[in-house]
Amino acid sequence: NAPDNDTYYFSSYSNTSIHETMLRDTVRTAAYESAILSNAESLFRDKTVMDIGCGTGVLSLFCAKAGARKVIAVDNSDILSQAKQIIELNGYGHVITCVHGKIESLIQESALPLSEGETVDIIVSEWMGYALFFETMLPSVLVARDALMTKVTGTMFPNVAKVFIEGANDQERLSYWDNVHGIDMKPMKQRMIEELTEEGLVQIVDDNKIITNRAEMIAFDLNTCKDEELDFEAPFKLHLRNSSSGNESKMEVHQLIVSFDIGFSVEGTAKASFSTGCQSPPTHWKQTVLWFDPLHNCPVLRRDENDIMKGKFHMRRNAKNHRAIDMAVMWETGHFRSENECKWERTGEG
Ligand code: SAH
Repeated sequence: NAPDNDTYYFSSYSNTSIHETMLRDTVRTAAYESAILSNAESLFRDKTVMDIGCGTGVLSLFCAKAGARKVIAVDNSDILSQAKQIIELNGYGHVITCVHGKIESLIQESALPLSEGETVDIIVSEWMGYALFFETMLPSVLVARDALMTKVTGTMFPNVAKVFIEGANDQERLSYWDNVHGIDMKPMKQRMIEELTEEGLVQIVDDNKIITNRAEMIAFDLNTCKDEELDFEAPFKLHLRNSSSGNESKMEVHQLIVSFDIGFSVEGTAKASFSTGCQSPPTHWKQTVLWFDPLHNCPVLRRDENDIMKGKFHMRRNAKNHRAIDMAVMWETGHFRSENECKWERTGEG
């Protein structure tokens, strides 16, 4: 019997290196740290906090340091035994209670250290995956939000997540095959493109490959968004940006780059945020690269502000493995003379 997706998923978090990678991602960890500590008085002092997916316990400890009265740290991975030791070692055993299990099951079985009708003021969680939703952990956090978070005054922390798209050109990757140590290897191009277009690739994309604006496709208010809204379809518009890299009159868009931004921006508190876009310091989420097929049909943009690539982006949980995500793009390029008059020249989907 093959282990199901969840067994595989939670055992991956018993691996030390995955926690080391997350902790060493300073952009990520420092953003949580400063968002929590700078809101000690405005948000955390004497509050009840739940840390969903506590891992090593790092976020629970930040919350305890910020003066929380009670922190419930939940994780379904066996990393929890280290979390317990770390919490004791750092002197916060009297504030933080560790609970092992899947948050959905713990709620159902009333196995959390909460008395009848008691709610939590703040849900802290680091649930983000590649392209924001890979791993699909957010739905579990939303179950907890709806069951346990104090109505009206309670908040998720972070409370905002936005998904962005931008276009890149990677001519070097293609023209490389024209002359490899004096040998013409053009037949390699088709083969490479077939492999690259198979699935989204997680890699750091240098900002100098970006040729368009970075368009926001969707913003989630994590305090109110619903599970079904996480499978989304969003429109976007891209145009060539003015940049030092490439000044040709028109350029091929070889790739769409998906990234996300996270915000801690609760009314009346100190705001914090971080970005996983190519223009910001890299994080362990890198960027997600979707290749077009430049040998057959890829968008081309002219250096003219009315020349745009317009499209619809779909992201949804995979039907067979809900921890995986499917992405699809429908696009057209054209020259906008006015909102009413636009001639679409090329279209495609992928
Ligand atoms: N908060 C830690 C770890 C984040 S990784 C840090 O910031 O470093 C996400 C963690 O959530 C993993 O340890 C994983 O086991 C846990 N997790 C994911 N889904 C869960 C669920 N439904 N119930 C309990 N824990 C979950």
